[in-house]
Amino acid sequence: DPRIEGIASSIRVVPNFPKPGIMFQDITTLLLDPKAFKNTVDLFVERYTGKDITVVAGIEARGFIFGPPIALAIGAKFIPLRKPRKLPGEVISEEYVLEYGTDCLQMHIGAVQPGDRALVVDDLIATGGTLCAAIKLLERAGAEVVECACVIELPELKKRLTPNY
Ligand code: 5GP
Repeated sequence: DPRIEGIASSIRVVPNFPKPGIMFQDITTLLLDPKAFKNTVDLFVERYTGKDITVVAGIEARGFIFGPPIALAIGAKFIPLRKPRKLPGEVISEEYVLEYGTDCLQMHIGAVQPGDRALVVDDLIATGGTLCAAIKLLERAGAEVVECACVIELPELKKRLTPNY
């Protein structure tokens, strides 16, 4: 798709952030380019329109940027999957392993219903660990996860989506 090149070139790469050796993919420069931002949302909306998706789940924090415009355009509800102690209501939690230590995602109980068809949205997939935790949360609540949508894939990192899950 000719739009992808413009999207890719709008993303800034910041070396050694947040730690030495990491080439951080910075999507804030994509957001400064209204055409690239719109094309990003449009590509997902075109892919997910007519797929009977009832819920878009955005992963904190950058899934909160791309998820809501997609949800509005396809007529689905939006739910935030948040880091611990951010959601005020009763939650279910899913821990996942990071390079050093663990992290956790939480979702409000009652936000999704059995039979909901879910799309998970984040900015970037590296190992897939974060998306796996999101999928588990949604499935524990009875939703069917139709697909995960990310703006960026880090091809140099070995993805472990299937074995982890
Ligand atoms: P994974 O769980 O797939 O290993 O890592 C993906 C998560 O880490 C995503 O939530 C993503 O936002 C964050 N992440 C890791 N590296 C980067 C990066 O270079 N740029 C951005 N924007 N996010 C990153």
